[in-house]
Amino acid sequence: MKILLLPALKDNYMYLLIDEDTKECACVDPVEPDKVLNAVKEQGVKLTTVLTTHHHWDHAGGNKDLIEKAAEPKLNVFGGDERIDGLTKKVVHNDKFKVGNLNVRCLYTPCHTTGHICYFVTKDGGKEPVVFTGDTLFVAGCGRFFEGTPTQMKEALIDILGTLDPKTKVYCGHEYTVNNLNFALHVEPDNQNSQEKMAWAKEQRKNNLPTIPSTIEEEFKYNPFMRVREAEVMSFTRTSEPVKTMGFLRQTKDNF
Ligand SMILES: [Zn+2]
Repeated sequence: MKILLLPALKDNYMYLLIDEDTKECACVDPVEPDKVLNAVKEQGVKLTTVLTTHHHWDHAGGNKDLIEKAAEPKLNVFGGDERIDGLTKKVVHNDKFKVGNLNVRCLYTPCHTTGHICYFVTKDGGKEPVVFTGDTLFVAGCGRFFEGTPTQMKEALIDILGTLDPKTKVYCGHEYTVNNLNFALHVEPDNQNSQEKMAWAKEQRKNNLPTIPSTIEEEFKYNPFMRVREAEVMSFTRTSEPVKTMGFLRQTKDNF
């Protein structure tokens, strides 16, 4: 499995997911189709699949153009929302399919939008797990609750993404890490993991390098939205209830 990170727009990330055995590939949220097709050509791979995390234009806005510009065969465009441009296969939770020899499993994670899907990918035997999290889980943060509730985000982050193999690499939709860690340190000023991640993230950005991927295991160490069950975070939100903590954190971050 090879993953190519393609920066797009101001701070979005598109990805090429390549099965090295068959040279088949998928792209995730191809908002800039020309950039995607150039990378496909450069890599000498065959693009068959589009994985769309959600319908927002900065994720799905390139689908139609890509379908027109891509060589045959007709692309399979997966997503969990009728509002996604060019959608050919609407998926639901736990739907499974293949890209070459890679196994893709759809994780339904509504909240940022009602149709948000994360894509969990492994090699045979569950090896090299990765997850594309769109605008649900960011490094050290999470997406805004445009169409959902704190209960849904708690389910998405803790019960679904949080129960994946801890080594799962997290590829998210935006480069928001430094900003997110600013908030994380506001919530938990003494969290050494957040302090260290911030120093590293600032260095990466200074050198114009991405802060992606992280892992699920790492997110539990510094991401306040993944830490809603931790005493330190619940004391900041002055409640002992993870869902209330989730709601309070999001509201505070929205005004931060
Ligand atoms: Zn979005």
